[in-house]
Amino acid sequence: MGLNIEQIRNDFPILQQQVYNKPLIYMDNGATTHKPQVVIDTVREIQEKQNSSIHRGIHYLSEQMTSRYEAARETVRAFINAASSQEIIFTSGATGSVNAVAFSFGEKYVSDGDEILISEMEHHSNIVPWQMLCERKGAQLKVIPFDENGELQLDRLDDLLTDKTRIVALTHASNSLGTINPVKEVIRRAHEREIPVLLDGAQMVQHGAVDVRELDCDFYLFSSHKIFGPTGSGVLYGKEALLEELPPYQGGGDMVDQVTFEGTTYNTLPFKFEAGTSNYTGAIGLATALDYLHSVGIEEIGRYEQELIRHTMEKLKGVDRLKIYGEAKHRISVFSFLLENIHPYDADMILDKMGIAVRTGTHCTQPVMDHFGISGTIRASLVFYNTMEEVDQLVEGIHRTIQMLS
Ligand code: PLP
Repeated sequence: MGLNIEQIRNDFPILQQQVYNKPLIYMDNGATTHKPQVVIDTVREIQEKQNSSIHRGIHYLSEQMTSRYEAARETVRAFINAASSQEIIFTSGATGSVNAVAFSFGEKYVSDGDEILISEMEHHSNIVPWQMLCERKGAQLKVIPFDENGELQLDRLDDLLTDKTRIVALTHASNSLGTINPVKEVIRRAHEREIPVLLDGAQMVQHGAVDVRELDCDFYLFSSHKIFGPTGSGVLYGKEALLEELPPYQGGGDMVDQVTFEGTTYNTLPFKFEAGTSNYTGAIGLATALDYLHSVGIEEIGRYEQELIRHTMEKLKGVDRLKIYGEAKHRISVFSFLLENIHPYDADMILDKMGIAVRTGTHCTQPVMDHFGISGTIRASLVFYNTMEEVDQLVEGIHRTIQMLS
């Protein structure tokens, strides 16, 4: 059975509003997604009835919150099919997760002359933490390039993986090109050389099922707010054996076992990596969003988005003077484009007045823009609550923009 999109849209209060007296057409989901009513209700209910700091209290509310927080961890574990909930660390978001690994893994395993391999299509948050690590340790950042379609140049991989490579950090799906990378192949080749692989799933998890055991990745991470959960929360998955070996990256309450002035021993997994009062409201809100996705049907969402991709590509390709950046065969519903001789910010401003929210700029992937020699693109990023009619209205809006600005 297909999805009932109209019914689904009713679950998202923010989509019901008008902007500039026009129905809101929200196509900036790559930046952040909206929250279904159940997530809003969960966050509110916690503030109103249950708020209490987790793990450290034995009173009623604290125990309630603790068990909901740990249940949220189990929900995340099941969502990505991790082997154990000890492998699920709650962080502040995808950025927080990359920084955690870059610091912790970097402290333990990276030294002068080593190499870190990333790709040319990474979000800045999967570039800069590695650059900072390289600076600290005297290591070198190496980059897998992509081709003109926005597909990773896999033929370059074997040369780029050397006996100095300590880790590969790669985006599962690109936030500016829409490419889904052949991550299983990259992992296979890296593992042949015993090199661990971190996958940035910030743009993947909201579009379909992810199975970290099937992928065999060593680290996987994503943000709650891009998968219909609250902001300020995220996930870092790591294989247990690897996490056991890594030092904590932040010190504070909850991550410790014994603290004396002579020295400190650390808590077990996953708490070793969760210093301070965790964002339990965010984690529980995220779990509610994941439950919501299950209730809609993750496979149905994937199938519907494939139709949305086909329709959007066909429509965009039908517009004269529109150039698409990123034409990978295997892709998510993220579309970057430019209109000939029209500044993208001008086009964005006009679309905005029609109630259409797209995003313009580098999308935190400046090297992608440098690859094409452009300063930015207009990006429409869609999820399962977007409709074919909205795509048609976007394309109609583009036509009108071209007419007005030519
Ligand atoms: N990785 C990718 C591919 C992204 O698209 C983003 C955000 O756009 C991030 C990481 C960073 O996510 P956050 O800002 O939620 O930490």
